[in-house]
Amino acid sequence: MPADNPTTATPSEIDAELARLHAERAKAEATVETLTKRHTRWLRESAADLATALEPRIEQARQRASDCEAAMQPLDEEFDHRGGWTRAWLVLNTGGHVHRSMLCRTCFESTKFAWLTQLSGHDEAEVVDLAGKAACTECYPSAPVEVRNRPSRIKTPEQLARDEQKAERAKAKAAKAITAPGGLPLRTTHSGVITTEFSARREYCELLSYARYLAKRNVAHNREAIAEHHEDASLILTALAAKHDRTEDDLREELAPKVEARWKREHSNWG
Ligand SMILES: [Zn+2]
Repeated sequence: MPADNPTTATPSEIDAELARLHAERAKAEATVETLTKRHTRWLRESAADLATALEPRIEQARQRASDCEAAMQPLDEEFDHRGGWTRAWLVLNTGGHVHRSMLCRTCFESTKFAWLTQLSGHDEAEVVDLAGKAACTECYPSAPVEVRNRPSRIKTPEQLARDEQKAERAKAKAAKAITAPGGLPLRTTHSGVITTEFSARREYCELLSYARYLAKRNVAHNREAIAEHHEDASLILTALAAKHDRTEDDLREELAPKVEARWKREHSNWG
């Protein structure tokens, strides 16, 4: 939530924070319960020193639960202050329905829900449209029949976060990757298939430096090999230019010092 200021936060931001606090409080309360039971058992078994050692941990968990409670208060107040907003919950079982309230009479005390905080404050029509056949008929009685026949596209905040991470990873991978223009593999004669931009740049320098070495040795004898190395380097340049939407001349100029460095470091010393 932006800078701990509920008054400027969106309903989704406030509810996501509330959901986090609810989960943290539940965890702390479970800890209190488990440790308190253990405490009682140890007292009964005359292990008073062990029981005493547990007390700070119980107190800590109790404090955490009450901190969560306190942090929720201004968020609940903001909800009331704005006159409330739409909220949606998904029942967590196969074919679980989307509800506008956990108090829906088709649900039970034991029903497990995922709070769809990304939909907080959104139009109910939008919620129903996403939920399709998963929309609870009790909660959304006005949902049109054609919408009810559609499969659900609802995702939990956890699924959305995973999707986002996956997309980020794909993006990072794509940023590092290289292909020939049009997406075909970048195939070269002397450097094989090049898949990353890093190796494309390295191979470009290697090919041109080596071609220079071949020329130094014997131009006439190596004519064909020199041409092949230049051809490979040119394929790489074309791929780099297409990827970055730059001109080949521009890239050639950028890479020239690296080719020169490669030559000085490596092939110029060869006999
Ligand atoms: Zn319902």
